[in-house]
Amino acid sequence: MSKVIPQLIDGEWRVSADAEPIEIRDPATQEVIALAPSATAEEIELAVASAQRAFQTWREAPVPERARLMLRYQHLLKEHHDELGELLARDTGKTLADAKGDVWRGIEVVEHAANIASLLMGETLENVARDIDTASWVQPLGVCAGITPFNFPAMIPLWMFPLAIACGNSFILKPSEQDPLTPNRLAELFLEAGAPRNILQVLHGGREVVDALLVHPQIRALSFVGSVAVAQHVYRIGTQHLKRVQAFAGAKNHLVVLPDANKEQVLSNLIGASCGAAGQRCMAISAALFVGESRQWIPELAARMAELRPGHWQDASAAYGPLISPQARQRVQRLIAAGKAEGAECLLDGSDCSVADFPDGNWVGPTLFRGVTSQMSLYREEIFGPVLICLEVDTLADAIELINANPYGNGTSLFTRSGGAARHFQHAVEVGQVGINVPIPVPLPFFSFTGWRGSFYGDLHAYGKQAVRFYSETKTVTTRWFEDDASSDPNLTIHLK
Ligand code: NAD
Repeated sequence: MSKVIPQLIDGEWRVSADAEPIEIRDPATQEVIALAPSATAEEIELAVASAQRAFQTWREAPVPERARLMLRYQHLLKEHHDELGELLARDTGKTLADAKGDVWRGIEVVEHAANIASLLMGETLENVARDIDTASWVQPLGVCAGITPFNFPAMIPLWMFPLAIACGNSFILKPSEQDPLTPNRLAELFLEAGAPRNILQVLHGGREVVDALLVHPQIRALSFVGSVAVAQHVYRIGTQHLKRVQAFAGAKNHLVVLPDANKEQVLSNLIGASCGAAGQRCMAISAALFVGESRQWIPELAARMAELRPGHWQDASAAYGPLISPQARQRVQRLIAAGKAEGAECLLDGSDCSVADFPDGNWVGPTLFRGVTSQMSLYREEIFGPVLICLEVDTLADAIELINANPYGNGTSLFTRSGGAARHFQHAVEVGQVGINVPIPVPLPFFSFTGWRGSFYGDLHAYGKQAVRFYSETKTVTTRWFEDDASSDPNLTIHLK
């Protein structure tokens, strides 16, 4: 019998009444490891009403009390780091080291949330007019919700609910229906850390649950991370229903190689950044732009990539795991076939990949193309697999022009020894997260995760100071105290000074 995944509603773990649960499968074997029934309309209502009640109490909790909850939670997550890593590896197929990295990146956000007091401080100014002072206070919004993707089932939920709750809100999490085991465990540990039982609700399911949250009048703010089409849908419908929405979407991240860069560093960073996590990272490098003579390194890149071997998460020598589902694998295989049909040169083809003892896994071997142009589907679509495409350009200016013409703007990187070239690149490139000799420049939580253009819809980004602004309101109070016997005439005009 497979484990049935409950939801967290009004402080209780309850199995949904839904009669057609989603099957959660091990991506290396297709074995059904759990069943996740989706939230019914009635359960969604219960969760939102409970979150609304929780907010009325929690908003009054002193800020240090909220910070201490995050300290305890951070401590518990660290104590359970190995267990969470194994659960996440089983659920997603990621290698154990990578799965533990996913958890660790989330723990760092909880650490950031533990510093909430300084992040919530407003501004004050004395004597904005004679005897008048102004102060701004930062207050919580209400019920917030988060919809997360399959590829980081620990890190991305932890981008959201700890900061929202530290700001004084209540939160409804709707994790990906493809790997809900880790988010449920994160919620269990949050309760164990002493969180008020109904401050976090966890609902399962897919599109229908998301659509109900998007239009629910009591939800004030929505955080979304996922694919482009769904991000656009969430942003459109959520804002149409007058909610605050931040929607993080897909990507096409370029790494530019200048001929003066260190070849060894370029090749190993390109391989790690394109094939790590089977390429299923929104900040994965999927396009390498070789400038000038650096194109001579492509054959050596192919030889080194060919040595990579995917495998099961318990195999410590595996470079990366399977894709999340057979559908994801078929999609990547389709794009590889399209690349060949459209005339790109396939130097390494991983579409027919097998792993001993795991004949049913969603395996794709390392794949490398050269001769790719910006018109090909390999370049236009996000592949989300261990596939790297190489484009060749003459100058750094050509590389920047190509990147800026791409609709996405999540991450990019330049490898060079030239400070001048790096300075020009970081200034001119229209991408939100830039690495100089750093292939995947994901900012730590005291900064914000700042995708641009087609990779993000909204204004305020994830974590850092921006998330605190996203999950709160600013109230500005202007104060004057009269002397007891002072009198004044009615004032009918705006003061000019
Ligand atoms: P997805 O869009 O399929 O799913 C994301 C969430 O949306 C899930 O919770 C899912 O249940 C829900 N959903 C799916 N289809 C829906 C629909 N039609 N209507 C309403 N809700 C729907 O994304 P995924 O495959 O889980 O994740 C991979 C994608 O996420 C990639 O495109 C990747 O680039 C992107 N991603 C982006 C970032 C970022 O920070 N920009 C980070 C991680 C992942």
